[in-house]
Amino acid sequence: DITLDDVTKRFGEGGNAVVAVDDVSLDIGDGEFVVFVGPSGSGKSTLMRMVAGLETQSEGDVYIGDTVVNQLGPRARDIAMVFQNYALYPNMTVEENMSFGLKMSTELSKAEIEEQVTSAAEMMGIGDLLDNKPGELSGGQQQRVALGRAIVRDPNVFLMDEPLSNLDAKLRTTMRTEINRLQNDLDVTTLYVTHDQTEAMTMGDRLVVLDHGELQQVGTPLECFYRPANRFVAGFIGSPS
Ligand code: ATP
Ligand code: MG
Repeated sequence: DITLDDVTKRFGEGGNAVVAVDDVSLDIGDGEFVVFVGPSGSGKSTLMRMVAGLETQSEGDVYIGDTVVNQLGPRARDIAMVFQNYALYPNMTVEENMSFGLKMSTELSKAEIEEQVTSAAEMMGIGDLLDNKPGELSGGQQQRVALGRAIVRDPNVFLMDEPLSNLDAKLRTTMRTEINRLQNDLDVTTLYVTHDQTEAMTMGDRLVVLDHGELQQVGTPLECFYRPANRFVAGFIGSPS
């Protein structure tokens, strides 16, 4: 499981502090796909970054399994993150982009790394693009590289922060299906942030609705839609965003 126990994140000091995440407690089961929604500034990315170890919470504990990971940096957390802008290295080939993290963080031999990169690339359908640079690829292909780079490390947890928002509608539909398939095949726990109502309603096992850093509701998409916990959720879910 991934567990957040009374997690708060403040930016700044005293009266000027912004409470980005406000006393959030949440338990996410192994293999679960949880989608996070909420207005801009509601704390979704901050929450992801705390789980990833890219940001330290002001209060509370983050657990991965039974271990408190508060003191662990991102490398030690066995988590792969996919961002909105992919963050590929423009001067590296696809293969170098995919193997870079592995070379940094494992003791694998060159041959083993090559094998894992090839197999992840095949899985994402980019096996014939390994020698290309990101600038030579379409948005959808770049997105596949970003996903391939994430799965190559064989993580237990995927964090995805609006990974499809740069893609056109058709590609987004395709990639949605692929992400769900991937998540099923790899049985990886996934935390997924989106502004897209369709993604929110269809991709995840559960939906987490945030506003002003506070949890508004945690439930299946249908529960949140048909039995909203409060006025905010009622207005937010089902409204075009
Ligand atoms: P969006 O949907 O626009 O991506 P979000 O839900 O991801 O929004 P966050 O990026 O988590 O929201 O931001 C939550 C709040 O914390 C906002 O008020 C934001 O201005 C503030 N915040 C985030 N990061 C920082 C930072 N590094 N320094 C100061 N304030 C920050
Ligand atoms: Mg964000």
